[in-house]
Amino acid sequence: MKRLSRLLVLPLLLMTAHAADNQPLAKLRPVPFTAVQISDSFWYPRQEINRTASIPVNLENLVKSGNILNFELAAKGAHSGFQGPVFMDSDVYKALEAASYSLATHPDPILDKRLDEIIAGLAVAQQPDGYLNTYFTIKEPGKRWTNLRDWHELYCAGHMFEAAVAHFQATGKRNFLTVATRFADYIDSVFGPGKRMGYPGHPEIELALVKLWRATGERRYFNLAQFFIENRGTKFFAEEHQTPLDSYDGAYWQDDVPICDQDRIKGHAVRACYLLSGATDVAAETGNQALLKMIGRVWRNTTERNLYLTGGIGPSAHNEGFTVDYDLPNPTAYQETCATIALAQWNHRLALLYGDAKYADVVERALYNGTLAGVSQDGTRFFYVNPLESRGTHHRQPWFGCACCPPNVARTLAALGGYAYAVSDASLWVNLYIQGTAKTTVSGQPVTLQVTTEYPWDGRVKLAPQVTGPNRFEMRLRIPGWSRDASISVNGSKIQSPVIEKGYAVLSREWQTGDIVELDIPMPVERIVANPNVIADRTRVALQRGPLVYCFESVDQNEPLASIYLPETTQLNALKENGSLGRIVAITANARLASQQDWKRKLYQPAAAVQQVSVKAIPYYLWDNRAPGPMKVWMPVAAPTPVLQGTESQAEVTVSFASGNSRPAGINDGLEPKSSGEQPPELCHWWPHKGAEEWVQYSWKQPVSASGAKVYWFDDTGRGGCRLPVSWRIEYLDGGQWKPVQLKGQYPVALNDWCEVAFDPVSAQALRLVVKMQPNWAAGIHEWKVLEADEE
Ligand SMILES: [Zn+2]
Repeated sequence: MKRLSRLLVLPLLLMTAHAADNQPLAKLRPVPFTAVQISDSFWYPRQEINRTASIPVNLENLVKSGNILNFELAAKGAHSGFQGPVFMDSDVYKALEAASYSLATHPDPILDKRLDEIIAGLAVAQQPDGYLNTYFTIKEPGKRWTNLRDWHELYCAGHMFEAAVAHFQATGKRNFLTVATRFADYIDSVFGPGKRMGYPGHPEIELALVKLWRATGERRYFNLAQFFIENRGTKFFAEEHQTPLDSYDGAYWQDDVPICDQDRIKGHAVRACYLLSGATDVAAETGNQALLKMIGRVWRNTTERNLYLTGGIGPSAHNEGFTVDYDLPNPTAYQETCATIALAQWNHRLALLYGDAKYADVVERALYNGTLAGVSQDGTRFFYVNPLESRGTHHRQPWFGCACCPPNVARTLAALGGYAYAVSDASLWVNLYIQGTAKTTVSGQPVTLQVTTEYPWDGRVKLAPQVTGPNRFEMRLRIPGWSRDASISVNGSKIQSPVIEKGYAVLSREWQTGDIVELDIPMPVERIVANPNVIADRTRVALQRGPLVYCFESVDQNEPLASIYLPETTQLNALKENGSLGRIVAITANARLASQQDWKRKLYQPAAAVQQVSVKAIPYYLWDNRAPGPMKVWMPVAAPTPVLQGTESQAEVTVSFASGNSRPAGINDGLEPKSSGEQPPELCHWWPHKGAEEWVQYSWKQPVSASGAKVYWFDDTGRGGCRLPVSWRIEYLDGGQWKPVQLKGQYPVALNDWCEVAFDPVSAQALRLVVKMQPNWAAGIHEWKVLEADEE
């Protein structure tokens, strides 16, 4: 379907809400972030930290980690020395994009010069035909485009195009844009109808080509995006890798069914949402009905069954993505920061396409919670994985071997104002309430909207349009989906039953400078419960106030977090405070404390008296900025059944070796795996040490009596380097010497089951589990339990 003219569009949109769901009718235009000035106490300080700490930290780490060096090597024609994973270039591009956005709002000659230097390096590394990817130029010069599925070539190109457009728009300079268009022209000469078939294993280039088309007017870029989108799902990767079709499952790459036949969100979460963003861009332009229907279907599946309360997606570490509907575990929630950002990007496109507030609701949830949690208060540490519950061992890191998330947060914060407002011919749309101003044109006249608010701490918002003369237009104010009883007054008179269309209050009048709109969105503390199909959240409650989801951190509690519960009668209070977390609204409550009775060698005992305990919750995005400790979003509503862990839960864990992503503390967390192949966030392994003998040790303050042990092995056959070991043994510390226990039987080694041994009782302050690995393979352990000796 072709686009209808605007004259037809608006009445249709207003009157036939259902028909519009399937048609690309409402074409809103975002007010660019450069026309939005943010001056509030919530986002503005975060943007300043982003500009002064996170962006410099990103650029420094790109030097330290070798990303910049790769361009220098490629420029010199070197064929060795490439650093890092295959997608290293993309992190440079994303950081350049973030820095460019920053330049657009905060001119900075030193940063401007630094960017020009890096861009000059890229230009020299670019090959004569326009190709630019340092991995292939340095390491695999003959293998361009031979593995689209895994080698991220088109993905890196996409991030280059996004960055180049950002740089061009920020500075007006064409140095980067020229590099990008040369590469895009080359890619366009390789792929497309009548040329080469294929599409990227990691989508991204599709949405980037649309941006490049808009920036340059070169329609070929849009056509190429359309080609990549509309051909997707034809099982190209089976052909590329000669995988027999009857054994091919392309779901991870969204390559299992033709794109228009997708019926749910699946596979790798970031890939899925970048793909859906590109698909939305293409469909918005072409009006492809089958594509639009698919997007609607997948959106409903995402938001109705696969979205964390914190606005993130993708529960599983195994595929960095989706499993089955309603699978939303908390301690093992993967919820990659990039996936939350990708979800916000996709929903922003839908919000512009349809003018329906339900999409902006998702954007808000993602930005205020999951995205913002991705960076520390000081802007120098980052989360890749964002669990909703932690034992206190998960922390933000200064950088990652796979460093996609830090620059993604940086570019999002730097251009945040772009999510807040949109215009259509006769309407000004307000999607996010952020104090500051927006300058735009509505009904052909310039309009400056001045917004005053303490949002998200307070739901009162004052909006003052400034116009050059009386201007008739509709101000459309998003009434957040989480809110109830919002009220609006104009120039002091309350509007009785305002017109609400698709979640927006529509204020239609001839506006004059001096008019004041006051929107009041009450923000009581809400107890949120999950659909009962979400097993992880049954008999649990989470707290939300306004758009912010809250969590409990042990540092704020006087009792162990694991013993605290929130019955329905718990009184919840919002409390303004100004401490190390800045000016925030915390939630305090008089909660209950589960009994901590000693059950050792007892079958029955009188119930302990119920105890009250004062507790405090803080916004989720702020967690892990103070003393480390357990954290929980979803709190039990009844006394949790005590977990009767063994003596190992009291032990200190040490290991002979741990790489950056080994979490030895997971070995005694009591979280029992369902299979050896499961990939929890906290896992003890010795990879990349292979074929070696390694150990993990429990140490206690007092000697313990042990007469057995059982261990559950980790094995990631098919995706990683850990396999069952050749053998293992238990040793105990006796007078400073490690001695083997006297075994009854043998040490079993098996997959998907506990491997248990009994031995003559020992009394020791430390036990070791010594592992002999298979040659060329590492090993890992889910859980190791110590069986206490039965004292006479
Ligand atoms: Zn990431």
